[in-house]
Amino acid sequence: MSIATRALFEFDDSYARELPSLSVPWRVTPVPAPRVLVLNGELAEELGVEAHLLSESAGVALLAGNAAPDGVSPVAQAYSGHQFGGYVPRLGDGRALLLGEVLDRRGRRRDLHLKGSGRTPFARGGDGKAAVGPMLREYLMGEAMHALGIPTTRALAVVATGETVARETALPGAVLSRVAASHLRVGTFQYAASSVEPGLVRKLADYAIARHYPDAAGAPNPYLEFYRRVIDAQASLVARWMLVGFIHGVMNTDNMAISGQTIDYGPCAFMDSFSPATVFSSIDHAGRYAYGNQPVMAQWNLARLGETLLPLIDESVDAAVEGATEAVNSFAERYDTYLTSGTAAKLGVHDADRSLVGELLALLESQRVDWTLFFRALSEWVRGRPEPARSLFAEPGAFDVWVERWQARFSSDRHAVAAAMDRINPVYIPRNHRVEEALSAATEGDMAPFDRLVEVLARPFDERPGLEAYAHPAPASFGRHITYCGT
Ligand code: AMP
Ligand code: MG
Repeated sequence: MSIATRALFEFDDSYARELPSLSVPWRVTPVPAPRVLVLNGELAEELGVEAHLLSESAGVALLAGNAAPDGVSPVAQAYSGHQFGGYVPRLGDGRALLLGEVLDRRGRRRDLHLKGSGRTPFARGGDGKAAVGPMLREYLMGEAMHALGIPTTRALAVVATGETVARETALPGAVLSRVAASHLRVGTFQYAASSVEPGLVRKLADYAIARHYPDAAGAPNPYLEFYRRVIDAQASLVARWMLVGFIHGVMNTDNMAISGQTIDYGPCAFMDSFSPATVFSSIDHAGRYAYGNQPVMAQWNLARLGETLLPLIDESVDAAVEGATEAVNSFAERYDTYLTSGTAAKLGVHDADRSLVGELLALLESQRVDWTLFFRALSEWVRGRPEPARSLFAEPGAFDVWVERWQARFSSDRHAVAAAMDRINPVYIPRNHRVEEALSAATEGDMAPFDRLVEVLARPFDERPGLEAYAHPAPASFGRHITYCGT
């Protein structure tokens, strides 16, 4: 088995090798009856593996964490994190392992990581396991985000373990295999910064620069430049979340990736009707990670990253603080630039000034208009069919007034404008009731609704007849949607 497994991927272990104090070698915990629930054929191909090999016994053993390939020594990665603002010095992979890195077909280094693969030295009180529902949720959300063109980690597979895990009820267990540009987190830097080992943050920063921002190495101040790059990647990422109505739900510093990919899908969900205060997570009582707070929280996390980099930025504390402060303050402008250009594109105009957008948002909020339906309906308006958009407003009069100002802005080639809008305003997003329905069925053993939903979300911009039920928000009877952490 090990020979076949080895042939699947050629693993490297640069992280474990170059930063040995930032992980603990650990073993996989075999599970009794692994069975593939879903396998990401497209991603397997990208990684240079024929998908069918992954559903054969050696492949399943690898994806379930039943056998580490020869020569591979998995590690549990160490990190700290601010969780809801409170610092926890030692988090780390409590129920996950990094198998290693794989160079994909385009030569990009990508982590292959297991989640739900058993207790590690970082498990604290946890059982190290994961349930089918949350792991399928991560698979689904990651694929939806990928199809929307938003940087994200992706799942290669979800494998049922044949075990039950004890949550509020007994649930079927699963292991998710995750592919990420890396698992370097803001929390990884926090962990390194609190270590007594001299030079550890520098080693980590050098590693991160080489892996993600190699150009920064040539800058006059490489570490400050690295910091700016991370800030820019996050400003861009969060703007893209906002443009599609994505709410991460648990933007702790341990859940923010240095690469700029969305990571750690827990209680995330998409907003229906526009409201900055939207929160779905059952544990986010204060709304810290509400939709409208996400940019501010991203900047807060980046300030924590900056603190860890100060000694590298300048020997003089004052100069370091000044450089880092200027960099972190640039988040607002960078974010604003990404958001403004993204909003203009959603509206089909070249530039969307604050008052045009502000008035629209006020209208959408006061009339509880569905975010996704609205932008999609707007291209119909451009095509000369005002009703789909108007009908989303209980009192369309105010919308009619706004439209007068808006339509003065778009270019005369209406067909081209509408087509461009349809390429960025999705028809299909993971609607909360659809996600819940798919996950409940899967937990009961029926994967059909999940498979269908994944298929629909793989082409979010392509309106297809017969899929109307996937385009609409939950009926009022669905009630207030609440999401839970994936534990
Ligand atoms: P998360 O909320 O998934 O981002 O996890 C936060 C921290 O809790 C990380 O250190 C996880 O490894 C750890 N953790 C979450 N669930 C479990 C579990 N079931 N067993 C062990 N550790 C866990
Ligand atoms: Mg996490």
